[in-house]
Amino acid sequence: MAPTAITPPHGVQKTSELTAAAVAKKITQTSTGPQPNGGEAALQPLDASKLIFTKTKTPMSVPEPGDPIINTSSQCTDHMITAVWRAGTGWDAPELKPYGNLSLPPTASALHYATECFEGMKMYRGFDGKLRLFRPDANCRRMLVSSTRIALPGFDPKELEKLIIAMIAVDGPKWLPKSRPGTFLYLRPTMIGSAGALGVATPKEATLFVISTFMPTLGGPKGMRLLASQNGVRAWPGGFGFAKVGANYGPTLMANQEAVTRGYDQVLWLLDGVVTEAGASNFFVVWRSKEGKVQLVTAPLGEKIILDGVTRRSILQLVRERLTDGSASGLEPVEIVERKFTMEDVVEAVREGRMIEAFAAGTAFFVCPVTVISYKDEDLPIPMVRGETGEYAGLIKSWLVDIMYGKVDHPWGVVIDEKEEF
Ligand SMILES: *Cc1c(COP(=O)(O)O)cnc(C)c1O
Repeated sequence: MAPTAITPPHGVQKTSELTAAAVAKKITQTSTGPQPNGGEAALQPLDASKLIFTKTKTPMSVPEPGDPIINTSSQCTDHMITAVWRAGTGWDAPELKPYGNLSLPPTASALHYATECFEGMKMYRGFDGKLRLFRPDANCRRMLVSSTRIALPGFDPKELEKLIIAMIAVDGPKWLPKSRPGTFLYLRPTMIGSAGALGVATPKEATLFVISTFMPTLGGPKGMRLLASQNGVRAWPGGFGFAKVGANYGPTLMANQEAVTRGYDQVLWLLDGVVTEAGASNFFVVWRSKEGKVQLVTAPLGEKIILDGVTRRSILQLVRERLTDGSASGLEPVEIVERKFTMEDVVEAVREGRMIEAFAAGTAFFVCPVTVISYKDEDLPIPMVRGETGEYAGLIKSWLVDIMYGKVDHPWGVVIDEKEEF
C-alpha cells in the first residue's frame, strides 16, 4: 500500500511520510531566526547584511577567449562566498574572501553520506554592457528545497540571492568585462554537511559556499544525440530526483560515459519506459497529436522524479504567453502538455511522421536541439528543420537570449550594480 493510503488513527493530522514531515520542520526551525513561543532557542538566520569582505592579495589573470583552461571548467574567479551554520547557534556572519581550498575533517558528513546540494546558474554580460542574472530568486528557492531534503539547514532564499549578487558585483567587472558582451560565467552555490562526525545522522555543521567558473559553451552545432536508458534509472517516486543533490549525479556518470563511447552526448533517462530527463536537462518534444494539434510535451513535476528546471518553467511560461494563439510568430499555435509520455509514444510519433522536433533545456546546455534518440538499438531521427535547430526551439532560445543579454527589458533579467573599485 502506498504511504498516502494509510489513514491516520482517530483523525490525527500527521503526515505519514517521514521525510516530508521532517523537511517541513527543518524549514521552520532553521530558516527564520527567532522561534515562536515554545520553539527551540533562537538561531541566527543567514544574514547577507553581515557580510565580511576580504579582498584577495593575489589576483589571478582572466583567460582570453579560446584559452584551453576554459574547457576544463576549473578556472574560478578571485573571490568566493562562504557561510557556516552550526546546530547550536545558526548561521555565522557570511564572508566574501579570496577563492581557495576548503579545510574539512576526513569525517565530514558530505564526504561519507552525500549531504551535498548545489545550484547552477549563470551571470551574463549583456549587449548593453550590463551584468545580469536570470531569475536568481528561483534558483535560491530551489536550493532551500534541496538543502532541507538532505538534512542541511534552511535559510531565507532572499539572503542567499543577496550573497550571490554581492559576489558578482565584486568579480563581475574584471572577470566578465564590458569588452566581452554576449558572454557568461557559471555560478555554483553549494552546501555541504561539514561536521566532523561519522555517525549516520543529521550534520551539526554545514558550510554554504558560492564560486564562479568559466565553462565551455555546451551543445555542438549539429544537435544533441541521446541514448535512451534501457534498465538504469536516474530517479524514482518517493526518492529525490526533484532536488539538486550531488547524490543524483555521481551514480549516472558511468552510464553517461558509456553513452559517449557509443557516440551519443547524453543519456535520455526513462523510468519504466516513461521519458523523464536528458542528462542534467529537462526534455521537451514538439509533435503533432493524432488529432492534428501541435503540442509541446514535457514530463510533469507531480511525482517529484524530475528537476523543476528554471529553464523549463521559463519556456513553459513564455510559450503559454506568446505561442498558444500563434499570432505573432508565424508558427502554428502550440498546446502545452505536461504529462507522462513514454518512449513508445515518441517512437510512434517518429514512425507516423508526427514528430516536429525535440530539445533539452537547462542552464548548462541552454536550449539544445536533439537530432537523434537511440532506443532499443535503433537510431530514431528527430527533425531539425532549420538545419541546426527546429523552428520552435530556435524561437524559444532567441526569446531567452534576448532577456539574458538585455536585448529586451524583462523582469527575469536582474541587473547587477557592479563595484568598479574593490
Ligand atoms: C539543473 C538540472 C536541470 C535544469 O535546471 P535549470 O534550472 O533549468 O538549470 C534539469 N535536470 C536536472 C537533472 C538538473 O540537474
